[in-house]
Parts: sequence; structure tokens; C-alpha cells
Amino acid sequence: MKTRQFLMVGAGLSGAVIGRELAEHGHEVTIVDSRSHIGGNCHTERDADTDVMVHVYGPHIFHTDDEEVWNYVNRYANFLPYKNRVKTTSKGQVFSLPVNLHTINQFFGKTMRPDEAHAFITQEQADTSIADPQSFEEQAMRFVGRDLYEAFFKGYTIKQWGCHPSELPASILKRLPVRFNYDDNYFFHKFQGMPENGYTDMIAGILDHPSITVKLNTTFERSMSDEFDHVFYSGPLDGYFDYELGRLGYRTLDFERFTYDGDYQGCAVMNYGEEKVPYTRITEHKHFAPWEAHDGSVCYREFSRAAGPDDIPYYPIRQVKEKALLNEYVERANKAQNVTFVGRLGTYRYLDMDVTIRESLDTAKAALEAVSEGKALTPFFVSVL
Ligand SMILES: Cc1cc2nc3c(=O)[nH]c(=O)nc-3n(C[C@H](O)[C@H](O)[C@H](O)COP(=O)(O)OP(=O)(O)OC[C@H]3O[C@@H](n4cnc5c(N)ncnc54)[C@H](O)[C@@H]3O)c2cc1C
Repeated sequence: MKTRQFLMVGAGLSGAVIGRELAEHGHEVTIVDSRSHIGGNCHTERDADTDVMVHVYGPHIFHTDDEEVWNYVNRYANFLPYKNRVKTTSKGQVFSLPVNLHTINQFFGKTMRPDEAHAFITQEQADTSIADPQSFEEQAMRFVGRDLYEAFFKGYTIKQWGCHPSELPASILKRLPVRFNYDDNYFFHKFQGMPENGYTDMIAGILDHPSITVKLNTTFERSMSDEFDHVFYSGPLDGYFDYELGRLGYRTLDFERFTYDGDYQGCAVMNYGEEKVPYTRITEHKHFAPWEAHDGSVCYREFSRAAGPDDIPYYPIRQVKEKALLNEYVERANKAQNVTFVGRLGTYRYLDMDVTIRESLDTAKAALEAVSEGKALTPFFVSVL
């Protein structure tokens, strides 16, 4: 098979995983990233003063049910056991999240057993008059009732999304994780862990291949495509078209970094459920590496707001207005030549890391098949709308 020249835009997980697969199959891969580091939003680096591994763009916990993806990441990093145990401060107390039996008993000042708590929540708390919840608010009221909804979901959601839960679709809260036992593991997945030396080190391992060249501090321009057979673009979909139709809406995050001598909060993630506290959560990064010991500590207070043109796009909003614009960009993209849109920004979706890797492996496989059959590569290998 003839060697092809591929350009990957973005040295995050999408660009790295697809690039590696193509390189493994004999193709030449150039990766550009406008940032000064690889790793995309998963980037981690050690703080010079405390030596704490900092999750620079916000906390990242690896969790998956996909065994192939778990084996894939374990090829490039030593994963150590890590369970995400989130706490939340509300009404002057600290509770466990997701809502579990401890949360319920503590919140209502009771000592219920699982079946008693189940009956209490479903029969006395839940608003059973809501037969078909239409909004996030109705969904929460339907499942846990007003008291728990207001303490743990309402304020947090207003801060995170900048609108009232009655304006958000019920689908955001598809399954409300309420546990009638004392399990406080935030995730349900079979595999969960943290790379011992951080995500950037893992992604450096993925990129370490003689047929991969990485160029940092290099922003993609469409004219660059001429030098390559095909481009995989993991930048913002609307950005590829110079925002000609307008901007797809995103939420961005501001991190107010502070250091502390000792242990600031005793856990990695503390949410703040009340609207009157302006931040959504505080992360204390050293607790993401419980196998390390550090005297000092690095913490992030996290604030969420609408992304402006110069902000980092974090969470796609994907409400009715944004979906209409997305439709228009997808129409344009479907007519574009020699480019495939990938990853969280290229497809305007929130993707966990395991899903990003799964999609990247599948995209690379489909692309390699198309190349071997002499077919053109499609603009999307996943459903975006
Ligand atoms: C706050 C937050 C917390 C998260 N926590 C978790 C978690 O706990 N667990 C989990 O599984 N997932 C988590 N995720 C999801 C995870 O970040 C994504 O799965 C992952 O980053 C997707 O990788 P990507 O390569 O598609 O995108 P990115 O990581 O965004 O990489 C895209 C890269 O493209 C570059 N780029 C963009 N435009 C251009 C251009 N024009 N020219 C050159 N380069 C360009 C960018 O600089 C960036 O480096 C979280 C996401 C966020 C926002």
C-alpha cells in the first residue's frame, strides 16, 4: 500500500490515537497543535514548587467499561487504582455525592435502612404527579423531590450551565444516580484509575513513533492541507470554517489557582451546591495521586461561564439554537474535501476520554480500510447531530 501523508490538527487524545494507528500501518503523520504542549485538555504537569501533578485544564479521572480501551491506555501508562469520591457542601454541611444512603440519612436526620430509604424517597419525596418529565428540573423533582433537588442539583446546575434547570432538557439527567447503600464511588464503570505519571506522559508514549512528527505552537491554516493527502481535524468545527455562519455556543471554565501548606480539603473534589457560592467546585490536585506524599498543595476554584471568542471552549451547549447552527456546519463539512472532523471539538460533543479513544480507534480502522480500498475518507466517521 502506498504511504500517505496525513496531517492531524490537535495533539490531544484524538490526534494522538488516530495518528498512532495510521503510523503503525506505514503512513507518515504530522501533528500540529497551537498550544506549547501535547495532551490537549487532558494535559497534566508537575507544579514546580510543590511537585504536585496538576490537571491543568480541570480534573480528569479515567473510567471505562471498554476493556479494549483499558488495555490500550495501559500499554502507554502505568495506571494506579483511583476511586473518585466526590463530596459536596450545601446548607452548612458536607455530604457524599452521588446521593447515597449516607447522604439521605444525614440530610433528613434519619437512620433508615436501604428499603426504608427507598420507600421514603419514592413515596414521600419524589413528585409522582410528574408523569413525563420535560425538563431537568422536572426530572430531578420526579426522582428525588424538591428538598434534595434544591440542595444538590439546582444551584450547581444554574452555575454550571448559566440557566435555570427548567430550561434544560430532561435528557441531561437521564439517570439520576441515587444509591440506597453506602457506596460513594462516583463512577459505575468496571475500570477506573489514574496514570502514575500523568496524562501528558501517556500521550507522549502514544506519539512516540518514528513516523510521527509533532509541531507545537503551530496553528492550522487551511492552506496547510495542500501538502497532505488528508487532514484529521480535532479543532473546533466552526473554527475550520472561520466562524462564517456564527459561533457554536460553549461554556468555558475559569480556574482560580491557589496553593496551601498542608491538606486544604481532605479530598480531590468538593462541589458547592448552592447558588450563592460563585464557584461550582474546588479540586485539590494532590489527592488525584494518593500514592504520592506532598507537604504543599495546589487547588483550583472552578467557575463556569459562557465562552467568548478568546476563551477555551469546554462544554458544548447543544441546545435547540446551537443544534440548528451545528446542522448548517455539518452540511458544509459534508461538502469539504480531504478532511475528517474528529474529537470533542471537531464533532461538537462532550466526550469522556474512553469514548474519545474508542471513537479514534474506530475512525482510524475505518480510514485505513477506505485507504486500502482506494476510497475517499468521509468528513465524519461518527454521527454528530
Ligand atoms: C473540565 C473537563 C473535565 C473532564 N474530565 C474528564 C474526566 O474526568 N474523565 C474523562 O474521561 N474525560 C474527561 N473530560 C473529557 C476529555 O477532556 C476529552 O475526552 C478529551 O480532551 C478529548 O480529546 P480531544 O483530542 O478530542 O480534544 P482536546 O483535548 O481538546 O484536543 C484538541 C487539541 O487541538 C488543538 N487545536 C484546536 N484547534 C487547533 C488549530 N486550529 N490548530 C492547531 N491546534 C488546534 C487544541 O490546542 C487541543 O490541544 C473532561 C473534559 C473537560 C472539559
